Amino acid sequence: MLVSRGFDAALAGVFGLLIGSFLNVVIYRLPKMLERQWAAEQAPVEGAAALAVEPFNLMVPASRCQACGHAIRWFENIPVLSYLALRGRCSACKTRISARYPLVELATGLLFAWSVWHWPGQYASLAWCAFAAALLTLAMIDWDTTLLPDDITLPLLWGGLLASIAGFTGVALTQAVIGAVAGYLSLWGIYWAFKLATGKEGMGYGDFKLFAAFGAWFGWQALIPIILVASVIGVIVGLALKFTQGLRDGGYVPFGPFLAGAGFIAMIFGPDAIFRSIGF
Ligand SMILES: [Zn+2]
Repeated sequence: MLVSRGFDAALAGVFGLLIGSFLNVVIYRLPKMLERQWAAEQAPVEGAAALAVEPFNLMVPASRCQACGHAIRWFENIPVLSYLALRGRCSACKTRISARYPLVELATGLLFAWSVWHWPGQYASLAWCAFAAALLTLAMIDWDTTLLPDDITLPLLWGGLLASIAGFTGVALTQAVIGAVAGYLSLWGIYWAFKLATGKEGMGYGDFKLFAAFGAWFGWQALIPIILVASVIGVIVGLALKFTQGLRDGGYVPFGPFLAGAGFIAMIFGPDAIFRSIGF
């Protein structure tokens, strides 16, 4: 039993590495696809023509080295292993490849393995694999571009409600629906209070949708623990960036990656554990 559970988890881990490789493509391309789409909407005629001439989506064009244009061959694209074999450099021009690519693959593999280990032989494990993949993608895209695309946040929200109906999350549908509504409205309210008081925008609508998704996956009771943990992570990372001069222009740090971090903690330890650990 334990052996087959371990085998299943290892298999899920390998599958996760491959999905992680795909997530790298989504993280890199989806924001660019959205920018092209928005540009096309601004200038309909030229934009539509440009979109037709140069297709750019998750499948086309094939992956290339961003420095020299070298087409990446299949054996240079094996998760983690190719990065190690190439010693982190393009085989043609020797430009460094970001360590983030193998790290995203590794993180996805570990999250998938963990899900299948934690929910052995249950469809719930697949639901949590999907949750983890979506959350990791959102965190990276938000970090890079300060965008949380609707293409991911909204399916994550609907997915949480469906997972509740299917019994994958252990959250009653009532709690999931209230969680989704309360998640959205609470951050929306904070956003407007903050904006009216200071004239600044502390977060974006994508954050409300991501928090709504958490309400759907974990139930409304989890919202306060999650926002507390996200804020603590945000303060720690913000201070670390400040002291290492890592802050970008304007000092803006997106909130989505911290929300995502709290979401992973809630997934792995359960939202109750967060409350218990801070003494509630
Ligand atoms: Zn190259």
